[in-house]
Amino acid sequence: HDDRSQRHRIGVLFGDGIGPEIVPAAVEIADRAAALEHTGFDWVEAPLGHAAIERYGSPVPDETLCVLDELDVWIMGPHDSASYPPDVGGGHTPGAIVRTRYDLYANLRPCRAIPGVRATAPDIDVLIVRENSEGLYADRNMALGSGEFMPTPDVALSVGVITRAATTRIAREAFRAASRRRRAVTIVHKANVLRMTTGLFRDVCREVAEDYPEVTVTEQHIDAMAAHLVRRPADFDVLVTENLFGDILSDLAAELAGSLGIAGSVNASATTAMAQAAHGAAPDIAGLGVADPIAVIASTAMVLRWWAEHDDRRSALEAVADRIDAAIAATAAAGVVTADLGGDATTRQFTDHVLSELGR
Ligand code: ATP
Ligand code: MG
Repeated sequence: HDDRSQRHRIGVLFGDGIGPEIVPAAVEIADRAAALEHTGFDWVEAPLGHAAIERYGSPVPDETLCVLDELDVWIMGPHDSASYPPDVGGGHTPGAIVRTRYDLYANLRPCRAIPGVRATAPDIDVLIVRENSEGLYADRNMALGSGEFMPTPDVALSVGVITRAATTRIAREAFRAASRRRRAVTIVHKANVLRMTTGLFRDVCREVAEDYPEVTVTEQHIDAMAAHLVRRPADFDVLVTENLFGDILSDLAAELAGSLGIAGSVNASATTAMAQAAHGAAPDIAGLGVADPIAVIASTAMVLRWWAEHDDRRSALEAVADRIDAAIAATAAAGVVTADLGGDATTRQFTDHVLSELGR
């Protein structure tokens, strides 16, 4: 069937730091790729971060949430919450607010080197499936407030939360993904020390594994995982882990694959998905025009693919995503890459090259 006359409403939040430099590149490239497939996007912009604080006094104001409430898919730029005034956001980061409100429990972060581009581990090809709604980042549990407490000025506590329900759904996500990849899942935990929390995580993952006999299951403690990933990256396929471990592990894997600047990710519930680079706002290079836009562009392609899979009316978006990924690969293979990958292209030059590759 032909759904190409269908237009697609998609949200876009530029965010802080390098966000306003890299997110527009993703929009421009997605528009061009869509036009080549005779379809198109209607972008719905909403403020996030400093732009939102200036206008509405909050990094994720109700005005932005009202926009997102009406959407299935959006791109969220990075946020630099460390630089916000202390009283805004109610102690929650924009990421926590948005991920909690839309129950974006699965953070899928693939890390693979780009052929022809320098990488510490050229043969790495992993998918990190990071639980996104609880874990040792207790700020995701809105019921706990920030999840951190200071009974006295000299003592700070943090609450870690692992539940059977949340672990079951993230484990299913990991095993489903592995069935379509190289059929191997590594459960990453620290059950020798955090016995109850990450022990429950490990046990529930093992139970879910029984439903996927075709998938090989191994386990690693988070610290050993970091070491093994550096030493023998090609041995791993899907890594499933709790929130904090997944965040750290994905920065490690991204750098092994070349750079944090290429690490795309999708945050998904059963009905909603958000594209978001795995990296942050990179304030150290903001405004210089040299940030790598690959992560947010690749995240956009990922979210389009997610949409095509979850909604029959969006099947054309799969071809749009394929075009975007191919154009990124061709641009990088031509040696047009930003400084993080050892090149000298600016964000604009990289983007222009991707646009010209799309036209080929
Ligand atoms: P967050 O907590 O939001 O993840 P962070 O403290 O982990 O933030 P990042 O903003 O991800 O930090 O930046 C880490 C380092 O990686 C910085 O030196 C930054 O310049 C670099 N970096 C991140 N993203 C990019 C990018 N797209 N292009 C080039 N360098 C980047
Ligand atoms: Mg980070």
